Amino acid sequence: MRVLVLNAGSSSLKYRLFDCEKEIGAGVVERIGEPGGVKDHMEALKIAQERLESDGALDSFDSLDAVGHRVVHGGERFTRPALVDEGLIEALEELVPLAPLHNPANIEGILTMRKIAPKTPQVAVFDTAFHQSMPKEACLYAIPLEFYERYAIRRYGFHGTSHAYVCKEAAKLLGRPPASLNMITLHLGNGASACAVEGGRSVDTSMGFTPLEGLVMGTRCGDIDPQIPLFLNEKGVDVQELLNRRSGLKGLCGHNDMREVLKLADEGCDDAKIALEIYTRRIRKYIGAYAALLGRVDALVFTAGIGENSPEVRELSCRGLEGFGIEIDRSKNRAGETEISKEAGRVKIFVVKTDEELEIARQTEALLSDARL
Ligand code: AMP
Repeated sequence: MRVLVLNAGSSSLKYRLFDCEKEIGAGVVERIGEPGGVKDHMEALKIAQERLESDGALDSFDSLDAVGHRVVHGGERFTRPALVDEGLIEALEELVPLAPLHNPANIEGILTMRKIAPKTPQVAVFDTAFHQSMPKEACLYAIPLEFYERYAIRRYGFHGTSHAYVCKEAAKLLGRPPASLNMITLHLGNGASACAVEGGRSVDTSMGFTPLEGLVMGTRCGDIDPQIPLFLNEKGVDVQELLNRRSGLKGLCGHNDMREVLKLADEGCDDAKIALEIYTRRIRKYIGAYAALLGRVDALVFTAGIGENSPEVRELSCRGLEGFGIEIDRSKNRAGETEISKEAGRVKIFVVKTDEELEIARQTEALLSDARL
């Protein structure tokens, strides 16, 4: 089956083409709608099409078996991937207030693809879907229930496709079915989130109503006292911009790229050192909290840009957790091995490269195969 996976952002379009799960083409079109860039998503998709055709990866979009779209917010309605039809597009439009920065671009990608290849089945795969298994006590906030009913304010969680993928990969490494395993998965990239996985299903996650809650991120603050934004608002601060774009590692030491933070910390920069401490302390707090919720933890999984590439962050994130059975083998960790726990450690610690697009291609294929049965 040939599946094109599209990740349409407001100013970029990432695409990857899979043939039976093997990548046969990929690229990104940037600066959509910007001066000097491409006009719109239609033009971006045509560029992607031309590139795939000239590379010999594809004869035409009509020869695709399916298109899988990454959609950030599926609200409560979408607990699994869904076939795109008029009803789905309407539902996505209704969800725009919950993800005003992301869903409009995702919708644009779907509408554009439908115009170019109207007969090709399209599937929406949601970042929120994996977390829809969370119980009420994990997803409701302690504010009056009427606000959940009126505005759908609850924890949704994000990065679900990544957490689902690495959880399944870790289960393969353990040679056991995901349903028999409890795990803590840590997606540490530009955005970052932790997930408590019980029997292969998400039972809690650190991102909430929006992707601002939880771990410290590149430019996002994660957990803070909710009174702080109110206080700053009264001082006339643009809180939205402050907490989303000027906080996190960047706010603490001026750099949102972990490579730079690590380099500066190594050179003795105090701001970078404290940023790194705050960043990894928050991770340890979540590991401890999720270990308490799960009772038994079989595996701890690191993934995404920082989780996959920084042995230092992994070590600091596990520091002092021996009592939980979490013990990193320094030499395996530094050597870049997949399994980095000490033999004696109760909890297996893995580094797994995430692949959200492959997971989207797999889920797209699975949905279409089920539909044909
Ligand atoms: P992602 O969002 O998963 O693409 O992750 C991107 C982030 O990963 C970058 O902003 C960096 O902070 C981080 N990163 C990438 N490579 C490394 C590395 N070798 N060491 C530490 N952090 C890294």
